Amino acid sequence: MEAQMAQSQKLESLGSLAGGVAHDMNNVLAAILSLASIQQMEAPEGTPLRKSLDTIEKACLRGRALVQGLLGFARKGLAEESLVNLNDLVRDQVALLERTTLQKVSLEMDLANDIRSIQGDPSSLSHALMNLCVNAVDAMPEGGTLTLRTHNEGVGSVCLEVGDTGVGMSPEVLEKALDPFFTTKPQGKGTGLGLSIVHGAVKAHRGTLVLDSHPGAGTVVRICLPASLQEGQAVAPLSAAPAAASA
Ligand code: ADP
Repeated sequence: MEAQMAQSQKLESLGSLAGGVAHDMNNVLAAILSLASIQQMEAPEGTPLRKSLDTIEKACLRGRALVQGLLGFARKGLAEESLVNLNDLVRDQVALLERTTLQKVSLEMDLANDIRSIQGDPSSLSHALMNLCVNAVDAMPEGGTLTLRTHNEGVGSVCLEVGDTGVGMSPEVLEKALDPFFTTKPQGKGTGLGLSIVHGAVKAHRGTLVLDSHPGAGTVVRICLPASLQEGQAVAPLSAAPAAASA
């Protein structure tokens, strides 16, 4: 009970902190990130300049994950809503990560041609996808395969799966993996916020999240979100509907 109160006080003060500084810091990081990406295109691979730019990109992505994690605690519901195509979201994320994070693994994509749109917040979903890709790659220090898959499930759901052939999670880790601040990564590498941000985003979209993981075999994270009722037409905002329970 005491531990729970301490945890909720911790989250509350993180929320106020986020309200004050995280938004501005996020914009600063976005500006650095986009300039670094432009310069990366000019700098040939293997040169010291390119290595520095790759390091700047990595540091910004890490900073952005931290700041957006704090923002996620401060914000309730979705910052914006539009029709989102998960295939586009996957392709954009791959384009963003392919020159750095994804270099260490092989990538397989299996995107359903007839994928239905969902109504949601594209930046919160792409941030969630980035966290899942980073986790998947971290789980494959010796290399392996990252699989990004989308499919329609029945008429009502659209699913995105991020799979890896990495170290997998023990039952003890699996049980705590979604908790904020739980990490098995070395200090300075893990924040323990990645999956809790993903979980928060999925809940805000009234979706479900399932972790399927086996030590030594790998992990599949499956997110299913409600398909938009009418493609191309505005529907009632999610924020107006009561949140449904999810994983
Ligand atoms: P962080 O990545 O900062 O540690 P997360 O909340 O994203 O925080 O993940 C919590 C923990 O869950 C990780 O430290 C790791 O032990 C485990 N985990 C998450 N994703 C994977 C994965 N794809 N494979 C194996 N373990 C994972």
